[in-house]
Amino acid sequence: MKNMLLLCYCLLWLPTAHAEIRNGYSIELVAARYGLEFLGRELLRSDLSDVERRRIHAAMKKHTSVVASFQLTEALLAQMSLISPDIYNDLDELKDKRGRTTDIYVRFVPQESSSMVLSGASFFQASEFDDDANYSRYGDLTVAIDVWICDAALNVLAHEFGHTRYVVPNLAAYRKFYTATYSTFITPSRIGHSAADASGRLAYEYGRRYLMDRRSFRLRSGEAPEKVATIARQVRRRVKEEFEEGFNSSVASAARY
Ligand SMILES: [Zn+2]
Repeated sequence: MKNMLLLCYCLLWLPTAHAEIRNGYSIELVAARYGLEFLGRELLRSDLSDVERRRIHAAMKKHTSVVASFQLTEALLAQMSLISPDIYNDLDELKDKRGRTTDIYVRFVPQESSSMVLSGASFFQASEFDDDANYSRYGDLTVAIDVWICDAALNVLAHEFGHTRYVVPNLAAYRKFYTATYSTFITPSRIGHSAADASGRLAYEYGRRYLMDRRSFRLRSGEAPEKVATIARQVRRRVKEEFEEGFNSSVASAARY
């Protein structure tokens, strides 16, 4: 069984041709868009029972939720890049100890449907490549980061970027440190944050740098960066309009025949 690490409740251990920060919903998005297109056509059938129609609507709601999650994650990553370009670009070019590029897959997740007990988690796992390669649910040479959708979501993301920035180039050594330090029971919030843990120190430093960048952004632009709640509302409205318009236009086009 693979040796799993857990930081910040979970710094869990989780590869590709060129490294970058990626949207963690990008793989689900393809199936969701296909499903919405298919179900939209099914809804136009005149022989559907009420039960079938309700089932289709329920399935469409799930797919729409994936599209909304993808778009919210895109918008928040863009916001992170705007406020803290240095942190973003540094992580966007992350390499492991052997110089291999490592992608970071980020998801912003609703707190109520998340299994995390803290607001952010970075996932690391030993790869079968070698001791310096990281593995996540997205494959070899990748890291996964989940963050709750909350007011402080980008600050939490900066914190998790700090953990990831330290752990990936120091993976084998950090794994040994982690096993020796956190093998006995410890409260989830302490994992990754013992006094001797360099990944925890860098996580706090990245969190502070983000807050300073946010203040600089406000001074430079003369306005506060948009709040996470505002961005989430804009995304929800856009997704609702997109699918309502798509459905109405297919009904209109079906009615012409
Ligand atoms: Zn942490």
